[in-house]
Amino acid sequence: TIEEHEDAPEDLKPRAPIVTVMGHVDHGKTSLLDYVREANVIAGESGGITQHIGAYGVTLEGGQKITFLDTPGHEAFTAMRARGAQVTDIAVIVVAADDDIMPQTKEAISHAQAAGVPIVFAINKIDRPTANPEKIKDGLAQMNLLVEDWGGKIQSHDISAKTGEGVKELLEKVLLEAELLELKANPDKLALGTVVEAFLDKGRGYVSTILIQAGTLKIGDYVLAGTHSGKVKAMHDERGKEVQEAGPATPISILGLDGAPQAGDKFNVMEDEREAKQIASKRSQLQREQSVRTQRH
Ligand code: GDP
Repeated sequence: TIEEHEDAPEDLKPRAPIVTVMGHVDHGKTSLLDYVREANVIAGESGGITQHIGAYGVTLEGGQKITFLDTPGHEAFTAMRARGAQVTDIAVIVVAADDDIMPQTKEAISHAQAAGVPIVFAINKIDRPTANPEKIKDGLAQMNLLVEDWGGKIQSHDISAKTGEGVKELLEKVLLEAELLELKANPDKLALGTVVEAFLDKGRGYVSTILIQAGTLKIGDYVLAGTHSGKVKAMHDERGKEVQEAGPATPISILGLDGAPQAGDKFNVMEDEREAKQIASKRSQLQREQSVRTQRH
């Protein structure tokens, strides 16, 4: 059985917020994620992020950390939610200041609201001569979304994902929002989390990126993820660096699973290897039966 007992309050330690970037196509989601990844805003981290593992962590000047899901757009968000995974703590919604509030902007807003995830607006492309951030804020106000400089409670910041202007301040606002959420997790137990992505690498076998939500994952742990299981042989962070263990809100790519789980699949460390295998094979059997049934109907 997969144990999920309540943590004692004293076992809960602060953890980094997990952020998803959403917004209308071409409004600058990828550019913002790239800018943050390439990190002029980040202090004291040499080497930079070299690996695309589906998520990455950044450290701000004050030492605070933010974990970004590195798949822009609401597809990832909804795919995960559809599988019952709620990993996002805060949604950054990018709106281009030289455009309007577009259908996918509205969609992103309603996804975040439906999930009860606070929104921080990034009003982007302010380096463009035709940018009109106030028009965007007016549009938001008309949707009953009042941003702070319009007297409301919703955080927003004017940025340029191209020049980097305002990005640091945007991240500070994300941290403010995170503080209100008082995010905590127990690092001292068997790890559990959610699969971000997985693929087969010719030389290395199945590589899965996992976002650890509680506990600490260690080399040699026996893992169950969706319909797959296996022993963790190696772990790498987004800098390609080998690590021995990883705690809450850390994205980590692992080697050792016997297949590729799907994004949004739950992941658990199991005490018993045999049990992990049994649950995994039972799940794949159920999945096969289900697909046979859907084919018949
Ligand atoms: P996405 O579809 O939301 O991921 O948008 P992209 O990040 O791919 O950006 C779409 C286009 O807008 C690209 O050509 C970017 O170079 C450009 N772009 C994104 N952010 C900015 C910005 O802050 N300023 C300017 N001038 N162009 C930007």
